[in-house]
Amino acid sequence: NPREYRARPDLLAGKHILVTGAGDGIGRVAAQAYAAHGATVILLGRTVEKLEAVYDAIEAAGHPQPAIFPMDLATAGEEQCRELAAALEENFGHLDGLLHNASVLGERRPIESATYKAWQEVMQVNVNAQFLLTRHLLPLLQAAPTASIVFTSSGVGRRGKAYWGAYAVSKFATEGLMQVLAAELENTSRVRVNSLNPGATNTAMRRSAYPAENPTDNPSAEDIMPVYLYLMGADSAGVHGQALDAQ
Ligand code: NDP
Repeated sequence: NPREYRARPDLLAGKHILVTGAGDGIGRVAAQAYAAHGATVILLGRTVEKLEAVYDAIEAAGHPQPAIFPMDLATAGEEQCRELAAALEENFGHLDGLLHNASVLGERRPIESATYKAWQEVMQVNVNAQFLLTRHLLPLLQAAPTASIVFTSSGVGRRGKAYWGAYAVSKFATEGLMQVLAAELENTSRVRVNSLNPGATNTAMRRSAYPAENPTDNPSAEDIMPVYLYLMGADSAGVHGQALDAQ
């Protein structure tokens, strides 16, 4: 059971892992957990001060020195993804892991009154940017001895729910991208590709989606790290094309 997984302290030693949305919420905690297990993490996100705070916390804890790559996924295009890939190639040569974590919630309202602007922003950040990053980082992942790509899904990416609009649709698309890529890499590559639904987790996104909830009734991001570690490390070798749940 991956949810009861206990990672060895050196599970990710020597690995280079990129985390999107690494400045806050689940991404911040995952970046710190990967670093604590020996990885050099590349912190990608849009708010530089938040990325710097995560960087400082990782350094202060004595974990491998991370790297920061600021990128706003709402506006990033091919050129920025090419620059990122070139910088990673120059500094690290290859990439052992990619956690697609950054997402926006968008509007919570019926399709009938949804705005095209908000729809497009959600699809841009949650789907298009994820495709672009995957497209441009794949060669670096294929250059690693083995690599793991983890896409972040949601309960509403597996079963649609009223008023979840573009966010739900973007998570279905995420599952689709995962499945297509997994099928393409089957047998021909040492890159494994899976999706992970964190489940209700106490973060800014959850608090904004459910303002009436008592935030601490939900697990913390720290509580759901076992599956995040499992999917990044060698113990999940052979797990490919699966849709997993962190809770
Ligand atoms: P948060 O909103 O707390 O954190 C999201 C992170 O993504 C932030 O660091 C944010 O940056 C970053 N981000 C958002 N937009 C962009 C952008 N345009 N460019 C770059 N970075 C961006 O969310 P969670 O931690 O709760 O969610 C993490 C993942 O888990 C998401 O994919 C979410 O859909 C999924 N999820 C979460 C659940 C939950 O209960 N929390 C449940 C199901 C799925 P900044 O801090 O600068 O805003």
